[in-house]
Amino acid sequence: MDHFNYRNGVLHAEDVPLSLIAEAVGTPVYIYSRATLERHAQVFRDALRGIERKHIAFAIKANPNLAVLKVLARQGYGADVVSGGEVKRALAAGMPAHDIVFSGVGKTHAELKAALEDGVGQFNIELEEEGAVLGQIAASMGKRADAVLRVNPDVDAGTHAKISTGKKENKFGVPIDEAPGIFARLSALPGLNLRGLALHIGSQIFDLAPIEAGYRKVGELVTQLRAAGHAIDRVDLGGGLGVPYERDKVPPTPADYGAMVERATKGWDVTLYFEPGRVIVGNAGVLLTRVIWVKPGAVRPFIIVDAAMNDLARPAMYDAWHDFEAVAPTGERMIANIAGPVCESGDTFAMARDIDVVKSGDLAVFRTAGAYGATMASTYNSRALVPEVMVDGDKFAVVADRILPETILAAEHVPAFLQD
Ligand SMILES: *Cc1c(COP(=O)(O)O)cnc(C)c1O
Repeated sequence: MDHFNYRNGVLHAEDVPLSLIAEAVGTPVYIYSRATLERHAQVFRDALRGIERKHIAFAIKANPNLAVLKVLARQGYGADVVSGGEVKRALAAGMPAHDIVFSGVGKTHAELKAALEDGVGQFNIELEEEGAVLGQIAASMGKRADAVLRVNPDVDAGTHAKISTGKKENKFGVPIDEAPGIFARLSALPGLNLRGLALHIGSQIFDLAPIEAGYRKVGELVTQLRAAGHAIDRVDLGGGLGVPYERDKVPPTPADYGAMVERATKGWDVTLYFEPGRVIVGNAGVLLTRVIWVKPGAVRPFIIVDAAMNDLARPAMYDAWHDFEAVAPTGERMIANIAGPVCESGDTFAMARDIDVVKSGDLAVFRTAGAYGATMASTYNSRALVPEVMVDGDKFAVVADRILPETILAAEHVPAFLQD
């Protein structure tokens, strides 16, 4: 459930008509609903109420906007981060350092050191050498880094290839059959406090079975490690729950997921860590856009909108579906292609889509754009960096500025050897 609904024929975010935001801020613009973010944070936490010891770390990469993080920090969420920049964002949002989980397959030495200085609460180690380096850096600082070893359970999440992370050919984690040896060697290092395991098998997952299979493999490994004398008190179960981009394709609910987790982790006697991203923010955002032209096409018209693949990359990158709706629909329908202005045929949001009739100048939204939307934006084609707005009841505020092409141009320099 979200808070983007039609009232008097006009799409609103909570109590604010989207036309008002378009007038004030221009388009394209991302719009987030605070009430929806809070609701999703609560629903996910409620789904895990049967789990006694737990920590929920929002996967910041899904939506790193500072105001969004602030809302989730107030809900008691920590952060799952994948770069030094994300550590800084989590701290800036007021998330305590010990609530931050540092994931990511390519943490640099400098990032590890800075995160140790900041007091980050957990490092998810992706390969043996990383664990050794982390241990060395921590020891040299007189610290012990709290860490877990990420294993690759070799299960197929059944999702898009570009967001599948738990098959053995993916770059993430250590092969699960090598984990006992790596765990034993790393746990002997004085700079490391190796406390358990982590896994994350993919994103936009619609079938709980592969996740459960992964969890069960990790459960067996916990038993095996304990039998070898290791103390295990944490397991990080990752994220990956899907959201309904299409109305008639419904993913498992957080409650379904919570029930599965209780079943699969029964008797583990650890603190469970969760790293939800998309499921918290996906439906809490829309991308508001204006139709520039309705261009006649060979087969059907192209609706050319002022948002493009540089603003919302998911369709071009993952063949993703986003519902497209007029802000003030007339009730009439048309079949059309929807595309942006960027000079790439891949800058197409939908082909042969049944949509509200729109004409030049009309406003429309791409729904379910709160996750992996603005955060993936670029300035390709010398377009502005897309701004973000948050709505709270009848109030709204710009929470990320539109960064204009001239600002980006001002950061470029013509070297002396070209100035003649
Ligand atoms: C991306 C990612 C997540 C979040 O995935 P969602 O599908 O957005 O829930 C969680 N953990 C790790 C390690 C990730 O890389």
